[in-house]
Amino acid sequence: MKKVAELGQLIEVPDSYKECSVCGKFNPMESFSNDGSTKMTRTNCQSCYTLSSQEWENLKSIKQNSKLSQEAQDYFKLNSLKSNSMKVEDLINELLKLPKDSLVLITQDGYYACGDYAEIFNPKKVDQVGEVSIYSIGNSSQNY
Ligand SMILES: [Zn+2]
Repeated sequence: MKKVAELGQLIEVPDSYKECSVCGKFNPMESFSNDGSTKMTRTNCQSCYTLSSQEWENLKSIKQNSKLSQEAQDYFKLNSLKSNSMKVEDLINELLKLPKDSLVLITQDGYYACGDYAEIFNPKKVDQVGEVSIYSIGNSSQNY
């Protein structure tokens, strides 16, 4: 299963489901094939396939004007943060494994980096996504 935004609302669908290019609803692969197989032959679903071009335009307009719900925005934002963040509990557990007199730092590189290490600091709240607080403990800024 995967979470997707269908007309702005966060829903869960089977991994194989595709979004219809006309109505924006998620459907099984068979819905995008003229022969009912899982081989996709068009980007519009079975129910849109037989509609008039005016009905297509109406559905496309509804799809394009649907706004992401707060729940969907939060979900996609937290998902995008996963690759460069970690849970506080996991960080603490990893830190507790280190020798007590060790130092912690954040490395940096790049043409505009000044020195080998980025700045590290006490956890600083930088964002709030739904119920999840986001803290930064370091920074590598290479602006020019
Ligand atoms: Zn459709």
